[in-house]
Amino acid sequence: MIWSTGCALSARGTLSLRRMRFVAFGPIFLLTAPASAPCIGKTGPAPSITPLVPAIHKIIDNEMPGLESLYKLLHAHPELAFAEEQTSARLAKELKALGFEVTTSVGNTGVVGIFKNGPGPVVMVRTDMDGLPVTENTGLPYASKIRIRDKEGREVGTMHACGHDMHMTCWTGAARTLVQLKDRWQGTLMFIAQPAEEIGAGARRMLEDGLFKRFPRPDFALGLHCGPGPIGHVAYAEGLLLANVDTIDITVRGKGGHGSAPHTTIDPIVLAARIVIDLQTLVSREINPSDPAVVTVGSIHGGTKHNIIPAEVKLQLTVRTLKDSVRKHVLEGIARIAKAAALSARAPEPIIRVEVDNYTPALFNNPELAQKTVSAFKSVLGADKVKEIAPIMGGEDFGRYGRAGVPIFFWFLGTQDPSQVKAAHEGGPPLPSLHSDLYYPVVEPSIRTGVLSLTVGVLNLLGK
Ligand SMILES: [Zn+2]
Ligand SMILES: [Zn+2]
Repeated sequence: MIWSTGCALSARGTLSLRRMRFVAFGPIFLLTAPASAPCIGKTGPAPSITPLVPAIHKIIDNEMPGLESLYKLLHAHPELAFAEEQTSARLAKELKALGFEVTTSVGNTGVVGIFKNGPGPVVMVRTDMDGLPVTENTGLPYASKIRIRDKEGREVGTMHACGHDMHMTCWTGAARTLVQLKDRWQGTLMFIAQPAEEIGAGARRMLEDGLFKRFPRPDFALGLHCGPGPIGHVAYAEGLLLANVDTIDITVRGKGGHGSAPHTTIDPIVLAARIVIDLQTLVSREINPSDPAVVTVGSIHGGTKHNIIPAEVKLQLTVRTLKDSVRKHVLEGIARIAKAAALSARAPEPIIRVEVDNYTPALFNNPELAQKTVSAFKSVLGADKVKEIAPIMGGEDFGRYGRAGVPIFFWFLGTQDPSQVKAAHEGGPPLPSLHSDLYYPVVEPSIRTGVLSLTVGVLNLLGK
């Protein structure tokens, strides 16, 4: 099965609505884990999961009506990156009601909840909170009707088109379940609600605000993301799961003038067209074919009228790579190609803006943590419902917690009707992708598997 998901990121909060295409790449890449990854074995035995499963299901059954209501409330009230005021207040309230020590405004609108329950490992569970500037077209009774003005002053709808409302609901459900089972485990829960995943900035802001200094440093961190696989299923990778995501703006400069006198101008439209074509050789001719990379020019804008040669053209690019060495090559190559094209046209050097620090780094699952968690998933979900997948070219800033030295594990939660998934794979109508105005999860079973997998994943790491 080919899984597809993704968070199309771009600079300054603008959003690429282009449907992202993800490909299952043959064998898993031979990369090594970060040297700082600690040994998983140090935490001692986890409480045996199997005897707890009936109790977990019973708690989820009891909590389900409230969780469904919470999901629909969150779905109907999406807030954009770094504007998650009501959302974070609601999540803080949920954790406080369960007895967590709660700190708000961490990294802007982030929430950190700590629940200490004796000696043992610290396990972090992360949800993201932000919605997208997408006008919802699902027709659901609980569809978002919220409209806002974007930075350009245009009125746009907002929608949880990436399923972060489902993540928040599962996160809340796992917190409720784990607290009700507190006699069966020891350790510390660290539940965090992160802002601004969609612009690749929230994890970084929380880390810069002392997430791992002001609060107990986690021994492990877990998180999940909705995917378009069937309900009841999860998918994961042992190691590299998601790509480096970079966003680049290029201003191609020329010399404007009359369309009838091109010899008196330097035409930036022709120059930009050349750059777009030249960029296609970067991945195809310079990068080893076994190293996946994507350079997409998602936007090109220049000119106002038929007979005016403009002074500049603007290009917007998204770049996806899996290896850091490939990322460096591609970013340098883009600048080299753009400058060389300008030089050949006697044009001023283009202005190239790469947000080198504010990018989404590749997400690398700790292999030991992945194996340990996946074996627990298989025992409760069934081995046939837990699928290993190859890395995909989407991005997620959860990877930053791993780069900060904490072993992380991130997985995809199936959210779609199995018959529709099957039909799509057999050539039927494709299912709406994440970020589509038509995407929505099947609510109750998605919550159930999300809460179950998070709860089991945490219990499997805690001591007793
Ligand atoms: Zn997204
Ligand atoms: Zn997302």
